[in-house]
Order: sequence, then C-alpha cells, then structure tokens
Amino acid sequence: MQLLDGKLLSENIKAELAAEVDQLIKDGKKVPHLVAVLVGDNPASEVYVSNKIRSCEQIGFRSTLIRRNADVAQGDLLKIVHDLNNDPEVDGFIVQLPLPKHINEEKITLAIDPKKDVDGFHPVNFGRMAQGLPAFLPATPYGILEILRRHNIETAGKHCVVVGRSNIVGTPISILLSRKGYPGDCTVTLTHSRTQDLPAEVRRADIVVAAIGIPNFIKGDWVKEGAVVIDVGINRIADSSKKSGFKLVGDVDFDAVAPKCSFITPVPGGVGAMTVTALLMNTMKATQKEIYS
Ligand code: NAD
Repeated sequence: MQLLDGKLLSENIKAELAAEVDQLIKDGKKVPHLVAVLVGDNPASEVYVSNKIRSCEQIGFRSTLIRRNADVAQGDLLKIVHDLNNDPEVDGFIVQLPLPKHINEEKITLAIDPKKDVDGFHPVNFGRMAQGLPAFLPATPYGILEILRRHNIETAGKHCVVVGRSNIVGTPISILLSRKGYPGDCTVTLTHSRTQDLPAEVRRADIVVAAIGIPNFIKGDWVKEGAVVIDVGINRIADSSKKSGFKLVGDVDFDAVAPKCSFITPVPGGVGAMTVTALLMNTMKATQKEIYS
C-alpha cells in the first residue's frame, strides 16, 4: 500500500508555481492576482479563505480579501462581483460558500464571469468541462486528477466507483474520469444515497472516490484487494486526546481499508491538501489566458 501524500504533492506544485511567478516577473509581466470574497464569520470559511490567501502569499501571487458582514444585501454582493468581473487587475476570484440564507447562491455564482471563475462553479465552466473543452475545473476534482496523474496511476479501462453526487465533487469527478484521455478513460459508476447495495457496487471498483460526508463510512470489506482509494471526506469527530477536542477523519475507514489498497489518500494530508493548490493552478491559468483567450 502506498500513501498518496497530497501535502507533499501540493508543496511541489506550489514550488513550480512560484518558479513561474519568478519568470513572469523577469519577463516584466504581472503576477497572478486572486481575490476572495468572504461574507459573515463562518469559522470553516474563515479557515478556508485564510489558507487560500496564505498560499497565494507563499508563492508570490497577489491576493486581496474582501470581507462583508453576514447581513450584506444581495445587491451589494452582486455589485462586488460585477466590479471584480470588470477589474483588469483581477485575474480570478472566488466567493466563498456557503453564503447567508438571504442570499441566493445560484444568482451570485451565475453573476461571476466564467473567465474569472477560478472555482469552476459557473455552469459555463461545468458545461465546457463535460464536453471536454478547456475549462476551469472545480478545485477538488482537479486536485484528485493531479494526484492520479503525478503518481502515474493507471486509469484507462478501470472501473471507478464514485460515492456521492454533489455538484462540487462527486458529479464532476465522475465526468472527468469518464472523459477521453489521461487521467480518464474509466468506466464510471456514480452512486449516491438512493443506490441499492452500495457495498456490492464499491467491491467492483478498481478506483473508489468517496465524497459522502459521513465519517469512516466505506468499510474494509467493501473494498477490492489492490484498489486505489481517494478519500475526499473531511469530518470532525470528538477526540479527547487532542487539545482541540476533535480530530479529522475521512469518509473511508482508513485502518480497515488501507491494508487492502494499492494506493490511498490519507485524511488529513490527502485530497484536502490539494484543493487550495488546484485553485492556485486555475488562477495561474487565468493569468496566462490558457482557458479563455
Ligand atoms: P454533499 O453533502 O454535497 O453530498 C454528499 C453526497 O453523498 C450526496 O450526493 C449524497 O447522495 C451522498 N450520500 C449521503 N449519504 C449517503 C449514503 N448513505 N450512501 C450513499 N451516498 C450517500 O457533500 P460534498 O460537498 O460532496 O462533500 C462530501 C465530503 O467531502 C464532506 O466530508 C466534505 O467535507 C468533503 N469535502 C472535502 C473537500 C476537500 O477539499 N477535500 C472539498 C469538498 C468537500
């Protein structure tokens, strides 16, 4: 069994991006500029956004944080999005989700210019992704592809079972892995809460992608010998031995599943570590106009 170290991979990719930034500076070009819009004081969102800003600083990207109180009017938020769309100094931006209940997330997402949608949540990017056209890929699935690619994990003809069909993880990764090319060319089964006999489906998988949000959900006897297991879940469970009182676990029962796998991502330090890096890769692509000219 080999651990797929997302943290190490992410450090390597960040070093590559930092070198690209140095080259841009040498060439007299502008460095990538990412803007994050944070509404309210959701503690998880605070952590995610500060990670994103810190990662930008680490590799020499310019970053700007725009904060608004939880009671911001939807119209004011739309104005911010509109201004960012039209600001030539901004290469890409994200509006951190979830947003407060009075704000229509769909309306905000639709207002973002697809050319600056480095989160890859806009339906234009989603549709382009589905058709195999250049697109900003959603960060978590993009991170998973990089984990597979940079470990040379074979995917062609493999049976991949994705558990969970969310718009940000399960559905896009199922599309990406079924697409022509590498990593891809898999035969994909997309499973969810209505799937009958989920253990039997997972047992047929050469590659399992677990994105459910239930701690230790995928059991040892559900996984075939030699399978590749990608655990997307990030769940807090109580742990009195930790100062914080909790620890992070994935959606896969790691201790039972790991001995059967050829490769497995740990939690933490697996997919989660790659998600912010994928956002940085998208921002570099936005600056270089790789997706949209
Ligand atoms: P979600 O809640 O939007 O979707 C969960 C999916 O799991 C749904 O499609 C549902 O059908 C399926 N599901 C629920 N119960 C099930 C069951 N009993 N059997 C089969 N399927 C079931 O979740 P999400 O946003 O995709 O997130 C999933 C997990 O991944 C969470 O733990 C989340 O924290 C984590 N996550 C991690 C990252 C990362 O960067 N690593 C990014 C996004 C989400």
